[in-house]
Amino acid sequence: MKIICVGRNYGLHAQELGNDIPDSPVIFLKPETALLKPNETFYLPSFSNDIHHEIELVVKIDKIGKSIAPPFAKKYYSQVTVGIDFTARDLQTELKSNGLPWELAKAFDHSAVVGRFVPLKQLEVQNLDFELHKNEIVVQKGNSKDMLFSVDEIISYVSKFFTLKTGDLIFTGTPAGVSRVDISDRLIGFLNNEQMFDIQVK
Ligand code: MG
Repeated sequence: MKIICVGRNYGLHAQELGNDIPDSPVIFLKPETALLKPNETFYLPSFSNDIHHEIELVVKIDKIGKSIAPPFAKKYYSQVTVGIDFTARDLQTELKSNGLPWELAKAFDHSAVVGRFVPLKQLEVQNLDFELHKNEIVVQKGNSKDMLFSVDEIISYVSKFFTLKTGDLIFTGTPAGVSRVDISDRLIGFLNNEQMFDIQVK
């Protein structure tokens, strides 16, 4: 399986990092070794002094597909959750300034927290509330209606380049409010007020 991530998909987050609003989705990948389960411990890596949390809506792909047109994208997913796209911001800033790829800052081990999945059923994928609590304080709060590129547009776009396979995950971008995590922080993610993950930082 692969983890496909979208960068700068919320206007206010692009702004807080000083990035322009993109014309097409900004895409990067994480390998399977990046996964961290909903109740596991996240150990701060030694190569960064500025690991940021980015809570994101995560969509699981249900069936294989290639070059999917937006009106058909809904047939390719039925479950969602929230996750964290952990980012070594110091390293990412350095890589970006040198025009280098972001993988070292984004795709490291356990950089992709994935909550428990829930069926979408009658829920509208572009109207889901989600939030991240750090030590019981709300640090990020978003709604998928504020995405610059919708889930269906993202699926259509990435499937031009990559065949989507059952079990692939799509991280759909973070809203504003990213900040550093430190040892002993506790990060709890909610989707429509339901708890999806609970991660201890060590
Ligand atoms: Mg992100």
